[in-house]
Parts: sequence; C-alpha cells; structure tokens
Amino acid sequence: MKQKLLQILGCPKCHGALELLAKETVEKEEIITGSLGCLRCGINWPIKSGIPRFVPSENYASSFGYQWNRFKRVQIDSINGIAQSERRLYTESEWEKNWTSGEWVLDVGCGAGRFLEVASRDKCQVVGVDISNAVDAAAEMLGSRDNVHLVQGSIFELPFRDGVLDACYCIGVIQHTPDPGLALSVIPRVLKAGGKFAVTIYERNKFTLLNSKYPLRFFTRWLNSKILLVLIHGMMPFLWPLTEVLFRIPILGRLFRFLIPIANYVEEPELSWKQRYQWAVLDTFDMLAPRYDQPQKESYVVDVLQRAGLCQIRRLNNPGLNVVGQRGRSI
Ligand SMILES: [Zn+2]
Repeated sequence: MKQKLLQILGCPKCHGALELLAKETVEKEEIITGSLGCLRCGINWPIKSGIPRFVPSENYASSFGYQWNRFKRVQIDSINGIAQSERRLYTESEWEKNWTSGEWVLDVGCGAGRFLEVASRDKCQVVGVDISNAVDAAAEMLGSRDNVHLVQGSIFELPFRDGVLDACYCIGVIQHTPDPGLALSVIPRVLKAGGKFAVTIYERNKFTLLNSKYPLRFFTRWLNSKILLVLIHGMMPFLWPLTEVLFRIPILGRLFRFLIPIANYVEEPELSWKQRYQWAVLDTFDMLAPRYDQPQKESYVVDVLQRAGLCQIRRLNNPGLNVVGQRGRSI
C-alpha cells in the first residue's frame, strides 16, 4: 500500500479517517504488511501482501478470486495487443482520455484490472476495489505502477471517506452482488460533488431469464470452482466448433447464443482464434460460476441512482445497461 492512499481511505463502518497503526514490512515505500485502524470504532484491519483487507478472504465472490488469479493476463489490453478494454472504458463512461489528470478515480469490482490498466495510463491516481482476492492478481499485473492502488473491500461498505473521489466506474459487477439496488445506492457517497459515475449492468428484459445459462446455474453456481473449470475445459472441444458455425448464422445465430451456454465472441475481429478460445473458457466460467447473477431493469437502476443523489443520469447506447451520471451538490 502506498502511503498516499491514506488521503482517501475511510472506515467501512463510520466512513471516518483511518490511521496507519503499524508498518511491519516496507519495500520501496510500499507498506507490505501492517495495520490500519479507525480510532472512532476501535476496529483494526490488516495490510497483507501490500493490500489493505477490509473483508474476510472467503466470501460470496470467491469464484471471481479463483477466476482472475487463474486468467489474470487474458483480458489485459497491453498483453493482448488490442484495445478492447480501452474502447469499453471510454465508450461506457463517455470520458475523454486524460480528463482525469491529477484526480482520484475508483474502479469498483476491478477483478484482474483490465480497466484499471487503461485508466492508469492517464496522470491520475486509480484505485481498484474488489471483494475477492482478484485484487492480488491486479496487484501482480499493475501494482508496480506509481498511480495504481488496490484495496480488498465490499461494495456495500466501501472503505473510503465521503466525497473524496473525482470519478468512479463499475463495469459488469452490480449483477453479481447479493443486493444490486443497495450496491448501486451506496456508491455515490464516495464521489465529490460533480464527481462522474458510469455503470454497466446486465439488463433484464422479458426473455433474459430464458437464457440457457440460468437453468444451468442452479447447479453450477454451487460447484467448486476447480471442478467447474475442469468441466468447462472438458466440454469446450465439443461445443466450441459447434458455436463457431451456429453463432455465425444470420438472425438464427442470436437464438443459438441464447441456447448454448458458451461465450464465443465470433464477431470480435481483434481477437485471434486462440485468444477467442481462451476468452470463451474464461467467460463461460464467468457465466456459470458466480453465486449471484441478477440482471436489472433500466427504470429501477435510474430510480435508485436518482434517489442516491446522482443527477444528469443518461443511458448510453452500448451493449448492456450502461448508465452515466454525476453526483449532485448534496446527498
Ligand atoms: Zn469507524
């Protein structure tokens, strides 16, 4: 943990400032082990492997920890030589490159850091928070960058003080929490007045829950992550060639994507065949493993964000339910 992070860290319970109580191991100005405490609540939290930890290591999102430590390199633009994450971050936030210079930007549910990697190219401080130990994967990929900070914490109890962040994005995360409405409603608190917010959530329409992944998930979401991944690796050689043909059929291809629970990005020209296969294994696991997968309706999301103090809320014309806004003067 870099000392600078203390400027914005806050008690997850009372949101007050935290004190650095102990620096047990320090390497190159990074606190590797130590502890943080809230003097008001009297609670202490450990810093382990350079990351402040505000949640137990096992929780509802453990499959994501397994997934991102196993596939940490797969979706990082600079490793793949593509610009998919960059394009998604800027189109789904409507931010200009470099507008964030000098600011604090938060990535809620950062996983292995595919969007953090993009955001950290600007001259801002970027903070990735994730409830799972995916933060360890992100630290391995990006922790050596001077402006990247990582925190293991819950979206429901974000460990930041009120109104300290200039911008926040949360892409593909909210539907995987046990209470999406509550998760959305608590994020604006950490934004400054005028702070920018962007979220992308799986959208629920009348056919969404007929997707073949949902009946399968009754079973797969309780499976041990290792066993599920072995099963996916086992079925992929049979189903992948099928999806290569069926998903490309005009019009009917959409129906087959609904019926066959394999994430084959046949329309993604930037990815090589091998990369698409890797992404298919990763995203098929990502469909079947999470404990929660709760798509949301636009009207509900907009209503929650309005009540949480966001203004200028707009839906953007991107895949998924992509909404942007900014924090009003008061909450
Ligand atoms: Zn406290």
